Amino acid sequence: RPLQIICNLCHQVRGRLKDEVEGMRMTHPNFKPGLVVLQVGDREDSNLYISMKLKAAAEIGISAVHVKLPRTATENEVMRRVMEVNEDSKIHGLIVQLPLDSVHTINTERIINSVAPEKDVDGLTCINAGKLARGDLGDCFIPCTPNGCMELIKQTGVSLAGKRAVVIGRSKIVGAPMHDLLLWNHATVLTCHSKTADLASEVGKADILVTGIGKPEMVRGEWLKDGAIVIDCGINTITDSSRPSGKRIVGDVHYDSAKDKAAFITPVPGGVGPMTVAMLMQNTVLSAKHFLQAQEPGKWNINYTNLNLQRPVPSDVTISRSCVPKPIECLAEEVGLFSDEVELYGRTKAKVQLKTIDRLQAQPDGKYVVVTGITPTPLGEGKSTTTIGLVQALGAHLKLNAFACVRQPSQGPTFGIKGGAAGGGYSQVIPMEEFNLHLTGDIHAITAANNLVAAAIDARMFHEATQSDKALFNRLVPMTGGQRKFSPVQINRLEKQGIKKTDPSTLTEEEITRFVRLDIDPESITWQRVLDTNDRFLRKITIGQSPTEKGFTRTVTFDLILLAGNGPTLAFTFHCFLIGHVTDTKAELDLICKLAKEAGAFDAVHCSHWADGGAGAADLARAVQKAADLPNSFKFLYDIELPIVDKIRIIAQKIYGADDIELLPEAQHKVDLYSKQGFASLPICMAKTHLSLSHDAEKKGVPTGFVLPIRDIRASVGAGFLYPLVGTMPTIPGLPTRPCFYDIDLDTESGEVHGLF
Ligand code: NDP
Repeated sequence: RPLQIICNLCHQVRGRLKDEVEGMRMTHPNFKPGLVVLQVGDREDSNLYISMKLKAAAEIGISAVHVKLPRTATENEVMRRVMEVNEDSKIHGLIVQLPLDSVHTINTERIINSVAPEKDVDGLTCINAGKLARGDLGDCFIPCTPNGCMELIKQTGVSLAGKRAVVIGRSKIVGAPMHDLLLWNHATVLTCHSKTADLASEVGKADILVTGIGKPEMVRGEWLKDGAIVIDCGINTITDSSRPSGKRIVGDVHYDSAKDKAAFITPVPGGVGPMTVAMLMQNTVLSAKHFLQAQEPGKWNINYTNLNLQRPVPSDVTISRSCVPKPIECLAEEVGLFSDEVELYGRTKAKVQLKTIDRLQAQPDGKYVVVTGITPTPLGEGKSTTTIGLVQALGAHLKLNAFACVRQPSQGPTFGIKGGAAGGGYSQVIPMEEFNLHLTGDIHAITAANNLVAAAIDARMFHEATQSDKALFNRLVPMTGGQRKFSPVQINRLEKQGIKKTDPSTLTEEEITRFVRLDIDPESITWQRVLDTNDRFLRKITIGQSPTEKGFTRTVTFDLILLAGNGPTLAFTFHCFLIGHVTDTKAELDLICKLAKEAGAFDAVHCSHWADGGAGAADLARAVQKAADLPNSFKFLYDIELPIVDKIRIIAQKIYGADDIELLPEAQHKVDLYSKQGFASLPICMAKTHLSLSHDAEKKGVPTGFVLPIRDIRASVGAGFLYPLVGTMPTIPGLPTRPCFYDIDLDTESGEVHGLF
């Protein structure tokens, strides 16, 4: 009968868990509870139990993975695998099976305690064991064998309160947690072990006996109290010559002599073992449930830092330094991000991995509040201060889930006229020094990627101008090991040119000429060099002055990276990342250039056209992957199917209140060029001073009676718009007579930056 009860119970538990997993998949179709069994060394007995666990998991709908490490694996190797699983948000349960003799080479306790407590479905970490010992049964994972024993005891219908229970064995996996579990289910518990005097007499007092000794049939039936409940965890192999295997599995209790004295006794084999497996499954499903619950939209569990308000209000930097920032990983945890979704940059900065969007796809959207403004003071109009203040009010005071998104300040204005851009007073981004200076290095990365493309364009024009077709071909497709071979990017280019060949030796002379020459018209290049410094003398320069460039000079311009140039391109590329098509980034660069090429113009910017062009795309891709914010130079975006001039006029008249526009010669030239190239249908994004509705910073309020001068028009083909430069709007600001950096200094003693505001 006990065997029948156990079979039914296991069946019931597994059936219930299967239903629960199906229920989870109704609301989260892509979700599956995940379990990893990390086994070090290969032991026949544990292999059997592992295969039972994997089979049960498959039946229930748990995705279980068996990770095997050799017996020779070092402690660090095992630890690394544990850490990987801890970080993997698809895995909700981890059990580690170490070889018995590993104790000499591997610190078992260290490994067991490195398992994240919330994934410790074996309940063996100090955290879970401690919670169980203190009676926090609802807030811990209970080790599987004692948990299974408890379920079996409950099946007998016996009430535990006040009963005398004896546990033989005090191991971490069976005896000790069994003691705790019985205790907190209100039994009076005695734990016996190898030093217990007169074990038989202690056993004789037990209403409930649980054995985890590992000694075959040690407990005799005659020791038992009449009507006792006996749960035998022992799984011991003894020799039995009457069996073909020559072996037999027996429990800790001598079953034949005990079965008539006990009211209930679990048989071995087939008793507690299957319950252990069922409880492991139960803990894994429970862990997965916790995981899903943590993702449900709800209030973040944020511990807000109190501000110590002073009057008069101290300087921004004093306030910034007086605040001790919460470690960023704590904040990430409070808002429900997983550790593998957060890329830490020190203690106060981190980036959220874009894959998080996929996980949160089913969550309802929040409200998006844009803080903007015009007619500001020379130091700005307080957008950042308002943004931070608003989020402080919504979050810390109204207890709503609220996050501020502010753009990383450009170093140009920080060192130039404006100073930092971290907000002010008690509403600022801290630590303000890190925010204002370099942050996570994204602007530098984008600058480098952009300039790599610019350098490649000029270098390519130089090489084409100074080499024959044959020399170019020999260098582009060099002979290695007696053979020439096209790279994948070159085959791609050939395909685009309609040359369906992969063997360099088969190209005709005409095909070689088409392959090696981009024939870039320098007049049509709009890809600018960029930097993040207000270096006004780079607004227009001549490159190629060194004799090494053999007289191939060219007039080029520099833009401030975040104010103009390919900022819009990056915004668009960043958008591609946001929507999860990382590989499209290169495709987008190609698009920029494809459009241009179709128009017969700046073929050069088609990165994949030259063999090393992928690097430009890769660098840009990496830079954008790093980038966390968008340029803020877009003043107004207008998108209707008119010719370019009419679109600009409508914006000028209807939005700014201008009488008309005046197209200066360079702008007129660009209108003609872009129209010829087929870009006339692109939307318009005005680049204009933010200090006035007009082009003149001195005209405040709602000015009238002015004509808006359009100096030039730039194209951001990849981003998909044209941006007219209004009036004297520079794409790189200059430094004032007394720039901010006069007052910025480094305290070499403390390492603090002084003078930022
Ligand atoms: P351990 O060897 O870690 O623990 C055995 C315990 O029994 C120790 O506390 C030991 O005392 C005590 N003990 C040993 N000899 C005596 C004795 N003569 N008198 C009184 N106490 C004694 O083993 P485990 O806890 O890992 O396993 C115990 C048994 O349970 C094994 O047979 C194992 O195969 C089985 N098991 C079954 C599982 C299942 O799923 N059904 C799961 C896990 C284990 P001391 O501390 O003083 O040395």
